[in-house]
Amino acid sequence: MTSAQSIDILETDRLHVWHPYAATVNPLPVYPVASAEGVRLRLADGRELIDGMASWWCAVHGYNHPVLNAAATAQIDRMAHVMFGGLTHQPAVELAALLCDITPGGLNRVFFCDSGSVAVEVAIKMALQFWVAGKRPEKSRLLTIRGGYHGDTFGAMAVCDPVTGMHGMFRANLTQHLFADRPGCRFDADWDNGDTTSMETLLAVHHHEIAAVILEPVLQGAGGMWCYHPEYLRQLRALCDRYDVLLVFDEIATGFGRTGCLFAAEHAGVTPDILCLGKALTGGYMSLAATMSTGRVSDAISGDGSAPFMHGPTFMANPLACAVALGSVRLLLESPWEQRISAIETQLKRELSACAGLPHVADIRVIGAVGVIELDRPVDMRAAVPRFVAQGVWIRPFGRLVYIMPPYIIAPEELSRLTTAMHTVVADASCLAQSAT
Ligand SMILES: *Cc1c(COP(=O)(O)O)cnc(C)c1O
Repeated sequence: MTSAQSIDILETDRLHVWHPYAATVNPLPVYPVASAEGVRLRLADGRELIDGMASWWCAVHGYNHPVLNAAATAQIDRMAHVMFGGLTHQPAVELAALLCDITPGGLNRVFFCDSGSVAVEVAIKMALQFWVAGKRPEKSRLLTIRGGYHGDTFGAMAVCDPVTGMHGMFRANLTQHLFADRPGCRFDADWDNGDTTSMETLLAVHHHEIAAVILEPVLQGAGGMWCYHPEYLRQLRALCDRYDVLLVFDEIATGFGRTGCLFAAEHAGVTPDILCLGKALTGGYMSLAATMSTGRVSDAISGDGSAPFMHGPTFMANPLACAVALGSVRLLLESPWEQRISAIETQLKRELSACAGLPHVADIRVIGAVGVIELDRPVDMRAAVPRFVAQGVWIRPFGRLVYIMPPYIIAPEELSRLTTAMHTVVADASCLAQSAT
């Protein structure tokens, strides 16, 4: 054992820690963060980075926020945790009521989960149990669109994009679901009626064995940062009703304002049967997620009460996480979030358009507080990330995408620092792979 004072963080990290999506041999560099405040991460060596990632899209209010700190402190002085089986508490109940209030009408039941992936597992389980309760257990497959991302656990992985997801490695243990083409019509383009053909064909052929359609509304996140036309969701809602299939929206990435509406479903005016929330739910403080359903779904699953819904994580509805989430959602609702996000969107559109003519830029997409540069080749992480850090920003590309999803409180000059750094890295061929593999 090494004492806290004498520990060499980087050396000990290299010896003992496993990072996300990382090898332990020849790993990519990691940067020790000592503290964070507002939109800035302070590294152990004193350097400050403007954060373009909001810690994987969660920290919408920025770091070390006095209101969220106070919510956490007040709750920890009462109780950090109690089990949720047979017990309940004010933070969970108030949060559930608030979520029912602000999400699309009809979603009036909340199941708390401990992470986004688990929220997706729970949504899948709800959809399956709905049809078991309805005496149609053969409706047990899922239908989704290509290019999605729903988490890293096995149920969630099985509905991630079959090519860019992890299907190759785990195929033998993944349920084989159905994949429709990704909607091709861009968010702000004219709607193309042919866009639903693939989805409609699969539903027509397979509806008798399909429990639910699951997808990320309007913006696909980690599966490729693609934004598509909201009319697709209206058509899909009608198709699901016609073919008696549940509709599940995964708003773990899009929820709480990120795309310019409080929930992306609002772009289409559609209510899903089941809704997954996560990421920004606690403003980036704690791991908490939720799976919401309509009364039709919860009542059907429950029947006469003799066959309860079969899920219950140990840390379900953790009071500390619920208290911070309540603080975070209220803070968001009280803030001028719509103006902030629309100002970020306008600035991103203006500043990222300067990258459009650069050699390897394939596409630029902006929606709400999300700015994406898609390249014709992967980014060289070993070259690009240190280049970002040297410019005083924290941006972590993946694959062929250089993107930002900053905290909503970012100031215009800080946002310009991010877009300038994106331009510099994208313009520098040494930060990109040598070929388009
Ligand atoms: C991040 C994400 C998940 C998984 O959430 P975790 O908290 O990482 O398990 C699921 N769906 C979407 C759309 C996400 O962006």
